[in-house]
Amino acid sequence: MSEGLEERKKAGVAREYRDDRISVYWAPQLCIHTANCLSAEPEVFDAGRRPWIVLEGADADAVADAVMRCPTGALSFTRHDGGEDEPAAEEVTVDPPGTVRSSFAAACASSTARRELPGR
Ligand code: SF4
Repeated sequence: MSEGLEERKKAGVAREYRDDRISVYWAPQLCIHTANCLSAEPEVFDAGRRPWIVLEGADADAVADAVMRCPTGALSFTRHDGGEDEPAAEEVTVDPPGTVRSSFAAACASSTARRELPGR
């Protein structure tokens, strides 16, 4: 498969970016363009590059940490190297209804950083 990507491994996931350490899943319909991922690991997440996620840009723990900064679950991950997997999302009440990573929702709601990401 082109660029080492595996397609549609999880419901709503457009792409899987995988190496031997970690898989990062991308669900563009959930992205609200907070740029948290871009700010956390700009060598990994770059909206102006194709592919826009390059896992070799950081160690797996740093990639996982950046994914966990995504407030909506547009990004998620699974570890293949024995590292700690992503904890289950916490259910919170939002309008419109949905599931967000509540620990980051407030920070993202106040974020002024917006960049256009692929897939939209
Ligand atoms: S919601 Fe924010 S952190 Fe998540 S993928 Fe979109 S820009 Fe990145």
